[in-house]
Amino acid sequence: MSSAVLSEVPLAAAPAQPPALACHVHKFGGSSLADAACIRALAGLVADDARLRPVVVSAMHGTTNALVALADAARGGADWKPGWDVLRQRHLDTASAFEAAPAGSLHAAIEGEFALLADDLQALAGGSGDMAKLDARIHGAGELLSSRLVQAALGPGWQRLDARDVLVVQAGEMGASVDWDASRARLAQWRLANAPRDVVVTGFVARDAQGRATTLGRNGSDYSAAIFANLFDADALTIWTDVDGVLSADPRLVPDAVCLDAMSYAEACELAYFGAKVLHPQTLAPVQGRGVPVRIRNSRNPAAPGTLIAPDSAPAASPVKGLSLVPDVAVLELVGNGLVGVPGMAERMFAALNRAGVSVTMISQGSSEHSICCVVRADQAERGRDAIVAAFADAIVDGQAQGVAVTHDLCVLAAVGDGMVGTQGVAARLFDGLAQARVNIRAIAQGASERNISVAIAQADATRALRAAHAAFWLSPQTVSVGVIGPGQVGKALLAQLAGVLPGLRAQSGVDLRLRGVASSRRMHLSDGALDPAHAVDALRGEAGQPCDLDAFAAHIRASHLPHAMIVDCSASDAVAARYPQWLAAGIHVVTPNKHAGSGDWARYAAIAAARRSGQSRFLYEATVGAGLPVIFTLRNLLDTGDTLHGIDGMLSGTLAWLFNSFDGSRPFSALVREARALGYTEPDPRDDLSGLDVARKLVILAREAGRPLSLDDVAVESLVPEALREVPVEAFLDRLEEMDVPMQARLDAARADGCGLRHIAKLDQGGHASVGVRALPADHACMHTRLTDNLVQFTTARYADNPLVVQGPGAGPQVTAAGVFGDVLAIAHALR
Ligand code: ADP
Ligand code: ASP
Ligand code: MG
Repeated sequence: MSSAVLSEVPLAAAPAQPPALACHVHKFGGSSLADAACIRALAGLVADDARLRPVVVSAMHGTTNALVALADAARGGADWKPGWDVLRQRHLDTASAFEAAPAGSLHAAIEGEFALLADDLQALAGGSGDMAKLDARIHGAGELLSSRLVQAALGPGWQRLDARDVLVVQAGEMGASVDWDASRARLAQWRLANAPRDVVVTGFVARDAQGRATTLGRNGSDYSAAIFANLFDADALTIWTDVDGVLSADPRLVPDAVCLDAMSYAEACELAYFGAKVLHPQTLAPVQGRGVPVRIRNSRNPAAPGTLIAPDSAPAASPVKGLSLVPDVAVLELVGNGLVGVPGMAERMFAALNRAGVSVTMISQGSSEHSICCVVRADQAERGRDAIVAAFADAIVDGQAQGVAVTHDLCVLAAVGDGMVGTQGVAARLFDGLAQARVNIRAIAQGASERNISVAIAQADATRALRAAHAAFWLSPQTVSVGVIGPGQVGKALLAQLAGVLPGLRAQSGVDLRLRGVASSRRMHLSDGALDPAHAVDALRGEAGQPCDLDAFAAHIRASHLPHAMIVDCSASDAVAARYPQWLAAGIHVVTPNKHAGSGDWARYAAIAAARRSGQSRFLYEATVGAGLPVIFTLRNLLDTGDTLHGIDGMLSGTLAWLFNSFDGSRPFSALVREARALGYTEPDPRDDLSGLDVARKLVILAREAGRPLSLDDVAVESLVPEALREVPVEAFLDRLEEMDVPMQARLDAARADGCGLRHIAKLDQGGHASVGVRALPADHACMHTRLTDNLVQFTTARYADNPLVVQGPGAGPQVTAAGVFGDVLAIAHALR
């Protein structure tokens, strides 16, 4: 077994300080030390710097995890040798890139380190000796190995410094704290003895006051680098990693995270403290006092400038620079109705937690002092609760305090930025963004510095919350997960329109509509990534995709990691409309040209209204009435601005509009029906149009929008289909179309005799009476000035009493209907911004 105490650097009584040199410390993380090629490339990154270049290294990528696993295995009595051998082989293979001879000094040194490692693992397995020290030595072996490889790669002239020879630290609750005097003295000794120009230093490892090996904690080599920047009196520190710099959020959780040009020390500290792995939370402390600029750079992309962390940073466009997450926390809440106004309550609680060695991430207290909440690490929650219960035992017995509640499975999301100081509305924007993404906030804290707002939320909501908050501060586009049902004519036209517009929309308006599912009545296709709308329907052809299951479809669209979800129903199915209440209640926005929900059963209509309120979701259906015309929009605006509706009348069917626009007596009515059918203006069975039912549905939708609880049965509908032809098969109907001609011609003649013409009109009068049918109208009526398939809606209101407000234009066809649907989709997306 190897010796328990590290090699001693003899200390002179009053060590002389070496002369100060211009110095630039570089640190390479494990991600920059993945293999021999990375290690070789490192020489180029530190090459053109005339200053003294201490290079602080982490272990090769994955090594520390492997070493921790080896120590755990040894302690647990498992066989650690195979893992040890894999690690040894990896390091020897890497060494071969720098030293051809397997018997050379580098290989020998690596073998020597592995022999010591095996001794330590053996000792750990035997359960004898100082376990903490053995653990630290095993965990820290990776840096001893990597520093040898890096030294070989950098070439002759480079010294190697085992940080355990000079860096003296003391482990504490807040992490390792440096004994600066002792460390400085030891380094001075070492430098006098070695007089190096350049030196490779082991990161992560250190010694304690008794000379035993210890570490700075996981990810601690950033901290090592900053400590050595201080000890070497460096004027610059560069931390090389595998991302372009500090990003606005963890890129693994927020793929749209952006690289920050600059940050202040305070911002970087907050982000690191709240979990941004790119920087160890203690990193900036050693350089802060000296104002040393720290740059985070990408060793795989050295052309990128990286992020500069300096005492102050220039204000950015957004008050929030970045967001981070602390996973695996719990909330402890002391509830004490009888403690209101009792001084020292918080002090007693936190003193108890401190004594129990529980570290507190966040504190939140209402001004009533009725309860105090704090967030602690999940693995310390039970200990924390017991400590508080013990500290308040007397108050609990007296009934002054009700006890301590623990909530598990939480995380803390923190928004950080110097720009938040004195900027109003930052918290509101964060809370609003989270609310829109259906994230419930359990506790809130804002530091007095106003540099950070943190909220405790459910762990299950973490990614969705992070993305929603990121978008809420304009750091990335608002992402909406979209599903389209019904790839008929309108559905296809919508997808084609989406394909043309989406890329520009993302760039210009900050909305990222991500098509993640399409469904027909039979099949559906779900995708985790974004589908190309131009080809999405192909995925439903034949037996492609999977059988349609609307519940599974909705569950997929409402992905837990995406902030917003929307289903666009372009089917004409009542079964799909029947799902709206449950979708809306689950927070999924619904957009549709399907008239079934708006004009169907009243109970379902009421359930939809209740579900939108409870789910805070939106239901838009502009295209149900006038296709792309702003009919519902106009009505809503009139009412919302306080106007009073007196009546609605107009032409709500493009098919019937065309028929009566064309019916001038020169051709029989039956010939016009045949032509309209050939042009595709009618349904395959023209009676679906001629019955007036579709128009009646639209009128019901408008009436309900105006607050009248109308149902289809309340509309007096005149069907144009003669009684005798209503039940016959469609072919027989088409054969006997001429039976309509005589009565229809008679009506036209009668109207003309009065100086009028015929139009198919839907009418809602002031008393709420609704009717649909053919009317004779004078030549100056607005409906007599329509063309082709124009729809026309007249709103007579208190403000528009003498001259009604008219909305007119083509009201049918897949393209304009799809555009009406798209308009609703965008209205929802923009409201999220
Ligand atoms: P190294 O091995 O260089 O020390 P780390 O893996 O410790 O690298 O840290 C870099 C990683 O931190 C990145 O690859 C990234 O996945 C993660 N990370 C988390 N939050 C952030 C953030 N806000 N900015 C940049 N990277 C982050
Ligand atoms: N190698 C150590 C770890 O993985 C230290 C570091 O990488 O910063 O935690
Ligand atoms: Mg790191």
